[in-house]
Amino acid sequence: MTSIVLIAPPAAGKGTQAKKISIHYNIPHISTGDLLRNEEMSRTPLGLQISEIMQRGDLVDDEIITKLIEQRINYDDCKEGYILDGYPRTIQQAIAYDIMLEKLNKKSSRVLFLDIAEETALSRISSRLVCSNCGSSYNTKVEELTPKNNNMCDKCQGVLHVRADDNEETFRKRFATYKKETSKLIDYYKNKNMLYEIKINETDNVEDTFNKIKKALDNNG
Ligand code: AMP
Repeated sequence: MTSIVLIAPPAAGKGTQAKKISIHYNIPHISTGDLLRNEEMSRTPLGLQISEIMQRGDLVDDEIITKLIEQRINYDDCKEGYILDGYPRTIQQAIAYDIMLEKLNKKSSRVLFLDIAEETALSRISSRLVCSNCGSSYNTKVEELTPKNNNMCDKCQGVLHVRADDNEETFRKRFATYKKETSKLIDYYKNKNMLYEIKINETDNVEDTFNKIKKALDNNG
């Protein structure tokens, strides 16, 4: 397996699918949202700087994010591949990423695009919960993602809470940012003939989507 870039609008189930891909293909899952939230929680100077930007639903500076990714994909566990969840998010980041791969002597990534309608995505965030300790994500409207005990993480017993940016107002803003910036990225990869499109229907559950992803990856070896 080589590296994979996963592109999707907010609340498409990107994180959940990235974790499944990571386990199935035995490659590390690199989530930029998690990398940034870790900085935020550790209250590093960088964390304090980006906290406000993230609360607003805006994008963090390309330079910051590109540096964090370059550091991470240089780790030994990324030698056989990795899955990037949340990067690149703009054409500028895609170009920076191409330059980074060349510099690190790594092959191009395979790009997966999870296509979901805005209203379907919105209905999903209203029931999303995350663990304040380990960051695991749950969804009370999705059977496979419902926590076993109310408000408690199955993995570490941490307290579950609603993410600060999981409200309709910030969601709409994040979706608008996505449409403005990220959709151009889709054309960028389409033109390079690198894009695998996965359509998510309203009725698709986690497994349905994952089966579509596996089919796309396994059939295009
Ligand atoms: P996510 O968990 O992927 O929805 O990301 C949460 C927030 O982190 C976003 O709303 C952005 O503020 C920031 N973020 C994540 N990935 C990136 C990126 N590639 N470029 C800029 N900002 C990002």
